Amino acid sequence: MSARSGLNCDILIVGAGLAGASLACALRDSRMKVAVIESEAPPAGGASWDQRIYALSPASTEFLDELGIWKSIARNRIEAVRAMRIFGDDGASRLEFSAYQCAVERLATIAEEGEVRRSLWAALQGARNVTLLCPAAASEISWGADSCEARLSNGEIVTARLVVAADGMHSAVRRAAGIDARIEPAGQRGVVANFACSVPHRGVAHQWFRDDGVMAWLPLPGQVFSMVWSTDEIHADELMQCEESGLCERVFAAGGGVLGNLSVLGGPAAFPLSWLSVPRRVGERLALIGDAAHVVHPLAGQGVNLGLGDARELALQLRTANDRGADAGELLALRKFERARAEAILAMRIATKGLKGLFEARGAAISRFRNIGLNLTDRAAVLKNMLARHAMG
Ligand SMILES: Cc1cc2nc3c(=O)[nH]c(=O)nc-3n(C[C@H](O)[C@H](O)[C@H](O)COP(=O)(O)OP(=O)(O)OC[C@H]3O[C@@H](n4cnc5c(N)ncnc54)[C@H](O)[C@@H]3O)c2cc1C
Repeated sequence: MSARSGLNCDILIVGAGLAGASLACALRDSRMKVAVIESEAPPAGGASWDQRIYALSPASTEFLDELGIWKSIARNRIEAVRAMRIFGDDGASRLEFSAYQCAVERLATIAEEGEVRRSLWAALQGARNVTLLCPAAASEISWGADSCEARLSNGEIVTARLVVAADGMHSAVRRAAGIDARIEPAGQRGVVANFACSVPHRGVAHQWFRDDGVMAWLPLPGQVFSMVWSTDEIHADELMQCEESGLCERVFAAGGGVLGNLSVLGGPAAFPLSWLSVPRRVGERLALIGDAAHVVHPLAGQGVNLGLGDARELALQLRTANDRGADAGELLALRKFERARAEAILAMRIATKGLKGLFEARGAAISRFRNIGLNLTDRAAVLKNMLARHAMG
């Protein structure tokens, strides 16, 4: 698709990652005219597994199901998480959640970024009220009293009543709006790789809080899992420079060999990790969603779930305002959206910062404290259920 000139719409979404594309999908078939600008189309699917694998919460899959796209994702590309085992750094402490204990069918569903993104895009292609402009980048954005205007990199102009920044962590829309984001580097990178394993994982996700960072294994269909090792720069470099056999040995040893022998299927790749927060997520004719509004450490695997939650809530508020005849950029509706999302965003920020700090702190006393904490939580059924339910929200 190529950019059209002089487009006038109600809502302009900049960025069609999972947050922006799901918002556009949630506004399909409304009375609002929506334009989506995206600089890169999703890569075509292939037989190999994506590098970016997500643990989608039940709330996220429910949202994707409401949008009608969940059923279009091939069942042999997703895996249910039936249990989660978390290990402390003393080799003995552990915490286990299971879907059975929580009386749910699954704790989460593992899916590939590319598969979800392609399904969202396919749904947008046929939407009568959505124009997808790709490849096109928003280079300049300005706000007036009644509308906002985006100039695309090819010089064409899109005018809208509301602009939604869904353009990721380094959001150009956020910068154009003069919102200063606070970026706190975690001093770590996330090293990701996919492995085949000789022992079936049976839908169990594993996570180890170790001296050298946090390593998570997310189950994929068959005897395959995706690893994210959040670790300091030096260790990340070492992992990235390993031969395949050396990487398998290190990952095998760090996981205590729980899934048997390993072979590398894809990767490794490394991503810098940081937290990002903003003083406000809405303004005159502006809303920020997804990583443009908040970035959390991936140790809780919740970044994309927060973004999908934003999209769902913003769509709800925009549709409600539209039903009563309000302007799409009405600040009242935007403020309702901001308030509704505040708690989930703050809670995830506090939880990921707290966990990272707790497991990074050195010293025998604090080590005993955190490992005892894991064991006690494992035995306290009520607290464990509360934690599991919060993670599933
Ligand atoms: C190592 C790692 C592991 C992770 N693991 C998990 C996990 O297990 N679970 C989880 O929930 N989250 C995880 N995350 C976080 C997750 O990847 C992000 O939260 C999520 O991708 C954010 O989605 P988004 O749509 O907000 O932004 P993005 O995915 O960054 O999408 C932004 C889009 O905007 C487009 N764009 C940017 N600028 C412009 C412009 N000027 N004009 C037009 N288009 C533009 C980009 O091309 C892009 O498509 C992980 C992150 C990392 C780094």
